[in-house]
Amino acid sequence: MPQDVLAQAANEMLDWPDAGGGRCGMGVMEMSHRGKEFMSICAHAEATLRRLLAVPGHFKILFMQGGGLAENAIVPLNLSALRAPKGERGRTDFVLTGSWSQKSWQEAAKYSSTHVAASSQDSGFTQIPDPAGWQIRPDASYVHLCSNETIHGVEYPALPDLKALGSDAALVVDFSSQVASRPMDWRHVGLAFGGAQKNLGPAGLTVVVVREDLLGHALDICPSAFNYETVAANGSMYNTPPTYAIYMAGLVFDWLERQGGIAAIEAQNIAKAQTLYEAIDRSDLYFNPVLATCRSRMNVPFFLRNEALNADFLSGAAAAGLLQLKGHKSVGGMRASLYNAMPLAGVQALVAYMQAFERSHG
Ligand SMILES: *Cc1c(COP(=O)(O)O)cnc(C)c1O
Repeated sequence: MPQDVLAQAANEMLDWPDAGGGRCGMGVMEMSHRGKEFMSICAHAEATLRRLLAVPGHFKILFMQGGGLAENAIVPLNLSALRAPKGERGRTDFVLTGSWSQKSWQEAAKYSSTHVAASSQDSGFTQIPDPAGWQIRPDASYVHLCSNETIHGVEYPALPDLKALGSDAALVVDFSSQVASRPMDWRHVGLAFGGAQKNLGPAGLTVVVVREDLLGHALDICPSAFNYETVAANGSMYNTPPTYAIYMAGLVFDWLERQGGIAAIEAQNIAKAQTLYEAIDRSDLYFNPVLATCRSRMNVPFFLRNEALNADFLSGAAAAGLLQLKGHKSVGGMRASLYNAMPLAGVQALVAYMQAFERSHG
């Protein structure tokens, strides 16, 4: 979370000021979600997000709950029948580039007939299979991909154009760890979803952006609170939305606009990632195994060639105020997450520490 946002939320916690600066006598957590104060907070958050991400008018923005993992079920419950014969659960295709797309594929098998269109597992998930070779079934309702694999540190440099690949399937994108870090090309997207907690705000809010023509195809077993058409028809207020998380995310959206919007934040993210990857590539101690063209700007896994030094590296880092660098348990090593709120100075401090550590342990 950006420090400015936390300070503003602290200042407004007991008594929320409206746009004119008038106090309403209660904090956001105490408001009715249908009251005019919260309705204005929610509408402002949605409008700001739409402007920031340049979401076209024929897409709905939904504020939901359950996080990215719940969407792994909610997406097939809503979209698997999109192109299926009436009454049938349809077909869903997946491109596997790491742990998260794998999880999505496994979950969708409970609700649809799944198929792996392409996978980079053979490479140890260090690259993205060339879209020209994807085996998309002709009657697939959608193709799911994860635009940034948070654990393996693999990111799509651009989203594929399924139409150009000869497919009428909708493209579904898990952008949990990438949203708002760079512009999004909506021309190729049917639906994108992400938990808010990586780049947008606190945990508890899930953002879904869905093209309107994909609504209305939910399986009859789809829970009403997770039916996109129902959620959209009720302006994300079919049930009580995560009000405080929406308010906090709205403050982050305002902060992003003050930074100059997505183009400006992208330039910072490029500079941050370059600083770290260059330091890794220059060193004899550290390495990153991901193909250069699809290295993630948000999550940088790196490994020590001498794994016996891992514990020393982490304890020295913690002593220098550099926290949460331990890699995910499934891949080991280290991982630096460079989400929007991480300043370049934080990356420079990490690089300085890494170089000092290499000198003293070389
Ligand atoms: C973190 C993450 C998720 C899981 O989100 P939850 O909100 O914990 O369910 C899903 N996909 C990606 C790419 C993630 O990084």
